[in-house]
Amino acid sequence: MPPFTTQAIVIRSLNYGESDKIITFCTRDFGKLKGIAKGARRSKKRFQNVLGLFSYLRLIFFEREGMGLVRVESGDLLQSFPRIREDLRKIYYGNYYLELMNEMAGEREANPEAFDLLLSFLTDLDAMAPEEERLRMFEIRMLALFGYRPYLIRCGLCKRDWGEIKEGPAAFFSLDKGTLICGKCAKHGVELVSLSLGTARLIDHVSQTELSKLGRLRFTSQALAESRAILPRFIAHQVGKELKSLKAIRDKFETRSSNFETIYEMPALEVLNPIRLPRNEEE
Ligand SMILES: [Zn+2]
Repeated sequence: MPPFTTQAIVIRSLNYGESDKIITFCTRDFGKLKGIAKGARRSKKRFQNVLGLFSYLRLIFFEREGMGLVRVESGDLLQSFPRIREDLRKIYYGNYYLELMNEMAGEREANPEAFDLLLSFLTDLDAMAPEEERLRMFEIRMLALFGYRPYLIRCGLCKRDWGEIKEGPAAFFSLDKGTLICGKCAKHGVELVSLSLGTARLIDHVSQTELSKLGRLRFTSQALAESRAILPRFIAHQVGKELKSLKAIRDKFETRSSNFETIYEMPALEVLNPIRLPRNEEE
């Protein structure tokens, strides 16, 4: 059987036995792909260090009959993103991109746009200062690419749009439904997180704007705080757990006094105080 070739990014690497490695790739043509690299631990020369985390390579592999793992034959390094590896915050941010991809991507389900997204965000992380808003943008795009795009252009219950809801303090996001909920529809005891219409618009815009134009968008501090309160928890809701690398970012870089930690230290879901809710007059 002839070998296969595809563009790939190393998203996970595990030592296996005395001399091998099991590598998980995000590939352009085959989606998430796991392979065994024989002798990769013993002979660094053979793979010319192309199998390190973040590496972008042209991967050559063979299928192994009846086996889930492909056999990694060789790889030509296209980009190693050296400046990510030199900066602790970049390493942590990059690890989060990789873990999120590993959790959300299905094995052997080609998703070229997801590959392009990861490549684009690693390229920017390598070239520019690490910004928290990039984490949020990556989350928004990943949600959209894997079928969990938040429904934010209308209230998920009464279907009134932004113009009808009007800008005000009383709009929310339902982690459960993945939709915007207007103040009128917010009911006692329902688990909701505050979301201004400005942030809803921004998140919606980020989810569908051209990848090459994402860099022009900026988050206000309010948009950043609201997205931070919503997106990681919405993702945790979808993948069924909190991602380790995100917790690591929080523990490593956020101080006690910052808003960041305060928000994250809340219980898993923030339950609104019913007394503060605007009452639905029709009730
Ligand atoms: Zn409504």
